Amino acid sequence: MHLARFPRLSFGHFPTPLEPLTQLSQLLGGPNIWIKRDDCTGLATGGNKTRKLEFLLGDAQEKQADVIITQGATQSNHVRQTVAAAAKLGLKTHIFLEQRVTTLGDDYQHSGNILLDGLLGGEIIAHLPAGTDMQQAMEHHAETLRAQGFKPYVIPGGGSNPVGALGYVACAQELLWQSSQQRLRIDHIVHATGSAGTQAGLVAGLHASNSGIPLLGISVRAPREKQEQNVWRLAQQTLELLGVEGELPRESVKANSDYVGEGYGLPTTSMLEALQLLAQHEGILLDPVYSGKGFAGLIGLIREGAFRKGENVVFIHTGGSAGLFGYRQVITDSLAS
Ligand SMILES: *Cc1c(COP(=O)(O)O)cnc(C)c1O
Repeated sequence: MHLARFPRLSFGHFPTPLEPLTQLSQLLGGPNIWIKRDDCTGLATGGNKTRKLEFLLGDAQEKQADVIITQGATQSNHVRQTVAAAAKLGLKTHIFLEQRVTTLGDDYQHSGNILLDGLLGGEIIAHLPAGTDMQQAMEHHAETLRAQGFKPYVIPGGGSNPVGALGYVACAQELLWQSSQQRLRIDHIVHATGSAGTQAGLVAGLHASNSGIPLLGISVRAPREKQEQNVWRLAQQTLELLGVEGELPRESVKANSDYVGEGYGLPTTSMLEALQLLAQHEGILLDPVYSGKGFAGLIGLIREGAFRKGENVVFIHTGGSAGLFGYRQVITDSLAS
């Protein structure tokens, strides 16, 4: 495996820190919890998409793209980071947003990530109803631009294709290197999983390194079976892109969908508890859509006794705090109750 064979640009501050959550570990009385700070990747409030974009926009540049097209939910962290990275290259991003959440009012519709999209110079082409075929909408727009002589580069939702997943193969390598440097035996890795690229890249990287570290994705949207299948398929494609031979064992992909609640982007009590615990005991901001539900999953599993005392569990903080401002009312209410 040789990542330097792939075109790559530099957008983030790496390596991101790997730190102990001392207070919270003590409070919960379970395993030692560590946090990998991918919320601190440094690009316009950071997050996990920055790693993917180093490879995706590297590919776009090699293909001489002159405009970027991508899509996401109204409060998409992926869209925000894409617009920021493209701005550094002097490229415009054409954005397609999906109204996946309609019940959260004005802040959700106008503050947080969507505010930053505009500030960073992104151009919202359409804000479409939930359930729209977003990939098709982007392809159609790309066709129109090509007919006008442009060279658009289409990035799928979440940047989740084999090229994007390379960013998390690199993260797996970085984490294994840090564990060696810090003499930290990692017993489990936990993180939030959505469009599957983060988990697929990590699974591929951990598998190709023969690390034996179990990884669990806490789903924020799809049921367990579907999520595991999506991750497995993308991880297998990523290994093929890397030239790693053999089939990825299906058992190396594990997801848990018990913390989704009523649906994507919809608040849950356990998410709001996780937000407050991390903020008030560690000074760390999670987000309402991904890392908050992911950490709620970790807390739930610790309370069920899923980990032994003395084990080291690494939570990968995938970012998203800009989204907090879209959830102002829900958070204010939870602080008052
Ligand atoms: C996109 C995102 C995730 C999920 O990553 P995927 O690669 O889409 O599975 C997790 N956390 C945050 C904050 C995100 O923006």
